[in-house]
Amino acid sequence: MWQIRPGLDTLKSYHVPDIAWPVKLDANERAEAPPPAVQAAIAERLAAVAANRYPEIGQHSLKQALANGLRLEPENIVLGNGSSEVLAAICRVFGGPGRKIVQPSPSFSMYPIYCKLADSVPLTVELDAGFALAPEKVLATALKEQAALIILCNPNNPTGGAMAPEAVEYIVAGARCPVVVDEAYGEFSGQSALPLLGKYRNLIVARTFSKAYGLAAARVGYAAGDREIIAAIGKVLLPYNLNAFSLAAAQAAWEMRGEFAPGIAGTVAERERLAIALRELPAVEVFPSATNFLLVRTGRAKALAEYLAARGVGVRDFSAAPSLAGCLRITVGTGAENDALLAATGKFLHGEV
Ligand SMILES: *Cc1c(COP(=O)(O)O)cnc(C)c1O
Repeated sequence: MWQIRPGLDTLKSYHVPDIAWPVKLDANERAEAPPPAVQAAIAERLAAVAANRYPEIGQHSLKQALANGLRLEPENIVLGNGSSEVLAAICRVFGGPGRKIVQPSPSFSMYPIYCKLADSVPLTVELDAGFALAPEKVLATALKEQAALIILCNPNNPTGGAMAPEAVEYIVAGARCPVVVDEAYGEFSGQSALPLLGKYRNLIVARTFSKAYGLAAARVGYAAGDREIIAAIGKVLLPYNLNAFSLAAAQAAWEMRGEFAPGIAGTVAERERLAIALRELPAVEVFPSATNFLLVRTGRAKALAEYLAARGVGVRDFSAAPSLAGCLRITVGTGAENDALLAATGKFLHGEV
């Protein structure tokens, strides 16, 4: 009766359990709603949206606002329904049958899916035992395999570590193809490849409103780069890919982005407090993080995740993945949420259960 596109049958669907955890530390979201002043501004802008009209076709308002803040031109910016859409579009622009896309592993589980949806071949470069990525390995693989695109996730999800800006520049400078740096967690690392945009035409930087800006529900992300590359990405995206409500919400958040600085600093401080406290527990390894989450490795990871779940604490269990054996990813929550996580984890690891 029907035959779906070859290859689609073996493609894995993205799956995360949809559970309303009382303590939700599984999705790297901002723990709270945006700051009240931003919430109020968003509500006002949403009320003013003309729901009967199509959104601006060129999405000029938000592009201009982003360009002003980033010292770029609107032509250097493309918007997506989440940075996910932009990343998938970049794979469609540079991928294609038989074309190779170099990416780290373990990293964001969607990258290989974007590659396959673009009929291209994902080529993974393994992180080392401490979950650091060797820039020489990335560049050598890309050159040897004549890659069409390199994806870097900096800082890397789910491991949390960041590459030094010099390492990113080394790859971008040496590559003979575009390099997209996914900076979904860039606001927490305090470093970015954005300043390199003026120097390298093959660099693309992807960012999102879903994490530090607390707008995961709105689904807004963007990429910044050379105007020819940005125009090509625009070609593969559908017109009106972002709804007017999301555009308005993101613009309010961006214009008031200073309001987020205390929250970001607070999350970084909580991350360090959590890391120190977790390292004091028996039989657990805590990897360095430049994000709003921590990757931990422990002997009975699955049992710990289940124990936490029974107490209403949701974390992301990666322990079934061979390269992440024993690993759980814990999003940094509010102080109280982190205390709840610590208390339960402490009981479990001290063998009091
Ligand atoms: C969360 C995340 C994204 C962005 O997701 P969107 O909500 O689609 O903007 C992109 N890359 C990584 C590595 C992420 O963790």
